[in-house]
Amino acid sequence: MLQTLRRIVQEVNSTRDLNQVLEIIVQRVKKAIEADVCSIYLYDSDESKFILMATDGLNDKLVGKVQMAHGAGLVSLVAQRADPLNLDDAQEHPRFELFTALNEERYHGFTGIPITHHREVLGVLVAQSESRMRFSQDVVNFLVTIAAQLAGSIINAQATKQISALSKETQSNQNTSRIHQDHRPLTGQPGSPGVAVGKAVSITSSFSLNTVPDRPAENIEDETIVFRLALESVRQDIKSLSFQLLSDGLPTEDVAIFDAYLLMLDSNTLIESTIGKIQKGNWAAGALRETISEHIKLFSEMDNPYLQERVKDIRDLGQCIFNQMHGINDLPVHKLSKDTIIVAEDISATLLADIEKTNISGIVLKRGSRTSHVAILARAMGIPTVVGVNELPVMQLDGSQLVVDGYNGKVYISPPESILSEYSRLVSQEDELSQELRALSGKPATTIDEVNIPLYANSGLVAGITPSKESGAEGIGLYRTEYPFMIRQRFPGEEEQSKIYREVMEALAPRPVVLRTLDIGGDKSLSYFPIEEDNPFLGWRGIRVTLDHPEIFMIQLRAMLIASIGLNNLHILFPMVSKVSEVEDAKNLLERAYQEVLAEGHEVEMPKVGVMVEVPSIVFQMRQIASLVDFVSIGTNDLIQYLMAVDRNNANVADLYESLNPAVLIAIKQVIDEAHKENVPVSVCGEMAGDPLAAILLLGMSIDSLSTSVASLPRVKWMIRNFSFSEAKELVDKALTMKNADLIKNMLTTSMENKGLGGLIRAGR
Ligand code: PEP
Ligand code: MG
Repeated sequence: MLQTLRRIVQEVNSTRDLNQVLEIIVQRVKKAIEADVCSIYLYDSDESKFILMATDGLNDKLVGKVQMAHGAGLVSLVAQRADPLNLDDAQEHPRFELFTALNEERYHGFTGIPITHHREVLGVLVAQSESRMRFSQDVVNFLVTIAAQLAGSIINAQATKQISALSKETQSNQNTSRIHQDHRPLTGQPGSPGVAVGKAVSITSSFSLNTVPDRPAENIEDETIVFRLALESVRQDIKSLSFQLLSDGLPTEDVAIFDAYLLMLDSNTLIESTIGKIQKGNWAAGALRETISEHIKLFSEMDNPYLQERVKDIRDLGQCIFNQMHGINDLPVHKLSKDTIIVAEDISATLLADIEKTNISGIVLKRGSRTSHVAILARAMGIPTVVGVNELPVMQLDGSQLVVDGYNGKVYISPPESILSEYSRLVSQEDELSQELRALSGKPATTIDEVNIPLYANSGLVAGITPSKESGAEGIGLYRTEYPFMIRQRFPGEEEQSKIYREVMEALAPRPVVLRTLDIGGDKSLSYFPIEEDNPFLGWRGIRVTLDHPEIFMIQLRAMLIASIGLNNLHILFPMVSKVSEVEDAKNLLERAYQEVLAEGHEVEMPKVGVMVEVPSIVFQMRQIASLVDFVSIGTNDLIQYLMAVDRNNANVADLYESLNPAVLIAIKQVIDEAHKENVPVSVCGEMAGDPLAAILLLGMSIDSLSTSVASLPRVKWMIRNFSFSEAKELVDKALTMKNADLIKNMLTTSMENKGLGGLIRAGR
């Protein structure tokens, strides 16, 4: 069964058209379980109906035409219960409805399995038999497994269908369902606020060949050359790799796979078939994809397990050739313009920082969530962004018109005029709000009852500190020093670093600047210092890396100290601390660096030292930690991730990432209270500080300062100026009695709206 399952999944994943996907499923499943009928019904939420989308066994002329209302028939019963139903005679069930035109009357045995994706029932997979019999538990288990695995592929194929339907303007084709052919947006997470309208440019780096679209070849000869060059290059790579491994002493039989690859590369079928497809007008990548999927299909249908195993090799090889071609084409930075919307599976913060120069208008990513570094960077750059769009058909969107709603995490594909005008209205409302907010820039963040909460800006990651300087911030509360490390091919030296830090501190002086020591690992990597781990967020990150490499740490600490000479506004912050000894070790190294710099004759002051609270263990040791430092800064992005065990980059669990969860609030309050017992001030520098709703609670918990992105700072200031500290305290007391984040959010929303600050929430989250 496992073999069959794998084969079906492989075949489905190499098919792109929804109807074909469904056809393959019903045919292969029917054969595998020896049923008389296998069908798929998908749910159309607009019509509240289940539609027969594919069948092997029933009258297939009725595909797209048989529709069942929600609440009627066995199919909808399965969906309602979200549970398999297995009956020996469906016709005796009170919910059975007969469709005579389907020729269903002769079938009795029935099993229906819900196809579920992220708690939503997309449809039902049905198997039927002529005889009165229940399908075995093994069969039901097989169907449950296949339905669970295929739900994602169906979602993907649906989204792709939406695009092709829109591009051909063939709304509601007679024979096909209307599912996803309306203007329902793709949904993800708000990454960076704002709205962008523009043309999608798909970034293909690290893409699976499988997702490459067909595209007309601009020049057949050029495309053929691109393909041949890639082939030759892969051939050379494989030869030298195999040679290298043999000289490293690997047994010949282990290296034999490379000979197999070389044979495949030289096979006429691969070369001729791809070139043939290019000559018919497809571009090289599309032609290669077609050829490779034909090979995969052929091999996966073979009954010989050895040959089936070759599917993986063929796929890998195809991917190598594609990657190579991608190198040759070097997509697509040159294609970017002012109205470009970048669409990608994921992009690195470094790439995004590079792209900035060309001034793109929006970003849509399949991966990530609000607190991914790429989203933080997009906010810093003011680019409307939606992240975590699970169903994003990256390559197929290339060239489509998109509306990116970075407030609500929605992406509209080729939207009609009505949606475009709705969004234009939103943009102008937003402009008005921004003007009002801009007027606040010179005013202090002081509550109605005269409590001042200094607001600092988060910076780093991108070059340039002008926005932070002009934002009305009272200093820089978090400067992420990773950027100069990420854009180089090697670790930057003391002088290089010192120059950058000096520029920041000089620009802000006498206002304080908090420089955080290198925080690599997790989702921030350096090309020249790769860290390969199964669980990078639980691995070698932040202070763990720098304490293990004192030479790197010392260079950075010295660079910071030297940069501060004469300015004396330096604060140093240690990231990812999880135990007391790390603070002690880091402080010892700082002391050593300080003594060295003094001994070299520099007149340097010892900076204030702080610790980030990102790891839950130190929440419970706050008093001891606080006694060692001058200030504490809560990094809620990581703290929430670790408290809730929710990967901040994983779109699948993004809904579980709750900054207003009572457990999170209790932890933050505990940090503030304990640190205050040692008279140590506490700041919040995670994204939570930039959310006006959450910031009310932080204010009420007696936070000493907040550090937010420049984009969020004015909203938070507006909120602070409209609330009193005592009101905020009352809200905290109430919130801490509540059971869940939704209740807390409703309470805060109401209190903001009562003050006429609803606009801050609508357009600001
Ligand atoms: C945090 O974790 O909240 C934080 C500010 O650090 P970063 O987002 O860079 O991990
Ligand atoms: Mg962090």
